[in-house]
This record gives sequence, C-alpha cells and structure tokens, in this order.
Amino acid sequence: MKIITGKHSPNFNDRKSHIDIIVIHYTGMKSEHEALDHLCNKSSKVSSHYLINFLGGIYSLVDEEKRAWHAGVSCWNGDNDINSSSIGIELENPGHDFGYKPFTNPQMVSLESLIRYLISKYNIPLHNIVGHSDIAPLRKKDPGELFDWKRLAKKNLSIWPKKSSVNPFNNICIGEKSKSVLEVQEALSDIGYKINKDGYFGNETQLVLKAFQRRFGSGKFDGYFDNITGMLIHSIKSLTKI
Ligand SMILES: [Zn+2]
Repeated sequence: MKIITGKHSPNFNDRKSHIDIIVIHYTGMKSEHEALDHLCNKSSKVSSHYLINFLGGIYSLVDEEKRAWHAGVSCWNGDNDINSSSIGIELENPGHDFGYKPFTNPQMVSLESLIRYLISKYNIPLHNIVGHSDIAPLRKKDPGELFDWKRLAKKNLSIWPKKSSVNPFNNICIGEKSKSVLEVQEALSDIGYKINKDGYFGNETQLVLKAFQRRFGSGKFDGYFDNITGMLIHSIKSLTKI
C-alpha cells in the first residue's frame, strides 16, 4: 500500500467500543487539497482515518486506535456511535455537488488493499463494510451510485445480492400503511438500516429504500418499491444473518 505520511488531523478522541465497521465516503470537495485542509483543520471538527486520492495514494490522517469524526448522526444495526466502532475511509471525488465522477482504478486498487488489511486485522464482517449513505440514509448520498460495490464483492471485500433470489414481499406504495410495508421495514432493519417499524410507507422509508437501491445496484434509486428491490432486499437479508 502506498501510504503518504506527513498529514495528520487533530480531530479525534478516544474510542468507546471496538472496531467492527468500515465506512466508505467520498470527500465531496473540489480538490484533494481542499479536502485534506478540511479534514485536518481543527475548526472543521471532522476527520477520517484514511483518504485515498485519484492516484491511489493513501493518507493516514488519524491513528486507527483513535475515534475519528466522519460518521455524524448515524446508526447501523442499533449502534448509534459509529465513530467509536468504525474506520472511516474518504475517497477523493467532487461528489454530487461539484461534478460527481467515477472512482479511478488506482483508487479502487488501494482501497481494496486497505480493506483487506483492515478485515484481517480487526475481523470485520463483510456486511459491516458500508457506505455513509447506509448509516445516514436521511442525510447522505456518499459514496454514491458510481461506487463499485460489486467489484469489492468479487474480491470478497463486500456483500452483493445473489441473482437467483425471489421477491417474497407484496408490492407497496408511498402513503400506504399495512402489514406488507412493515415486512419490508423489518427486512431493512434486519440488514442494519435504522428505520421505524410502524408499517407506514412515508418519507423515511422512501429514503432508506433509496439508500438501499443506490448501494445494491437496483438500476434506479427513487425509493419506490418494485419487484427487483424486493428481490434484492430478500437476498441481502439472507447474507446478513449471522
Ligand atoms: Zn461521508
């Protein structure tokens, strides 16, 4: 791995739990320089453990044993302090606000080495390798639909739905309150998403479905339920049962 030294962030404190999640982000800033400045500036109060630039160079900004500040208000599998239990990795990319573009091959190669190293060091389960949008679906889109989760999965560094899956859910519509909605919410919750299990297909359920679709390649991410989304949810749920 090409680790670039010399850049450090002052934005960290002590962890309150052990490491078992990896969170992938994009920087969402115009340049690498700007992103590094932001992550290393005391007044920004944000940081990450690593940043990988387009050339595949890896900056180590916060020591792994420390709690970096990248997750914000977020939750996964009932864990509300993701900063304490995760390693945060930022990928250089202008993001949806400044010209979102594909991640580069050198960037992905470096990310794969880094994830492989972290999985073996901390014994991180594959279903706990997540995007920022998975742990904060109401606020975040990163790393976004151009991030190649399937490529990671092929190298056994992420989960990915199986093609042969069936859709066991009834079709559901926005505004509906029903047992069928509840069944979808329960499945999303079992996967790890924070969602109210109230049987109502409102704004929150739509945003969680959007995050799920963005992540698992349903071909669309409008948050509307359809047969493919149901199939993918069923498949991913079966992969996350421990
Ligand atoms: Zn992020």
